[in-house]
Amino acid sequence: MIDFSPTTPRGNGILQIRLPMAGNPLRYINGYLLEDDDGLTLIDAGWKADDVLAALRAGLHAHGYQLSDIRRLLITHCHFDHYGLAATLRRAGVGALIMHRLDWQLARDHLSDPAEIDRKADDWIARNGLRVDVSLDEELMHNRTELAQPTRELEGGERIGRLRALWTPGHTPGHLCFIDERSGAIFSGDHILDPVTPHVGVWRDTGTDPLGDYIASLRTAAASRASFVFPAHGEPFADLERRVDELLAHEAEREGHVIGQLGSAPRTAAAIARALPWTRRNRDFTELSAAHQQFAVAETLAHLEHLRVRGVVVRKEQPDSIGYRLTAAD
Ligand SMILES: [Zn+2]
Ligand SMILES: [Zn+2]
Repeated sequence: MIDFSPTTPRGNGILQIRLPMAGNPLRYINGYLLEDDDGLTLIDAGWKADDVLAALRAGLHAHGYQLSDIRRLLITHCHFDHYGLAATLRRAGVGALIMHRLDWQLARDHLSDPAEIDRKADDWIARNGLRVDVSLDEELMHNRTELAQPTRELEGGERIGRLRALWTPGHTPGHLCFIDERSGAIFSGDHILDPVTPHVGVWRDTGTDPLGDYIASLRTAAASRASFVFPAHGEPFADLERRVDELLAHEAEREGHVIGQLGSAPRTAAAIARALPWTRRNRDFTELSAAHQQFAVAETLAHLEHLRVRGVVVRKEQPDSIGYRLTAAD
């Protein structure tokens, strides 16, 4: 049952189409439809479900369009709530599918053998101190997405009609925002949300620093000086710089909490996560669902790895567990 208005015209040939996320607290994802000189562009597709396709058709129809009028589908990143419906839309006649090269790689790796990738992620989180069974959540996710090969892969910086692609890694390695040259707005995907804090986690032992990337990408987005923000979840808002400042302050505060849990003896990421408050309501770790406990550990790892690349902490590897401690204790 949809309890939000399905579409809102946003001026400058921009239509916000709210696509349902049944059973998810985010409630909906925004597909943004843009009129361009050569046809319609859709930014993000929703996940693969009949009610999403129906909502998209209805939103288009209410404004005199149909699915096959969409000339190109741009994907901000490969998460299933943004990309899941892409294959369906291609079959329905959408001409082009465009996304970042790195997120196409991630989607291909993940969807070619989902069970194996999930097992690796579960093992990684277990080595970091948390063993839970989330197979039901994982299965649900795979049912709502399908591999769709892009017709064009981006690196960032390209012009696509009225839009310019801005590479903003962090939430995923190939996350893209899009700057609208006509209105001066930014389509921010899951990079900048309000009031939700975007998830940045370490889900594999890749030796990368996604939180460092994310913080740099927040500055990249702020430097665009966009006049208006169209996020993938929640409602559009005007003050990009205010929100970037809040997100930077939030990450700095979380870092302080993580450092406060560290000492001279190695602790696992899960032990640290258990001691921190979670969500905007400052919930105890034990109140989180099994899947959200995994997200919490992955987020804690993002902070620990970001501290590690800066030399603040060291990582101690044991055969079946990984611990972190302060470098200064050496
Ligand atoms: Zn996402
Ligand atoms: Zn999302």
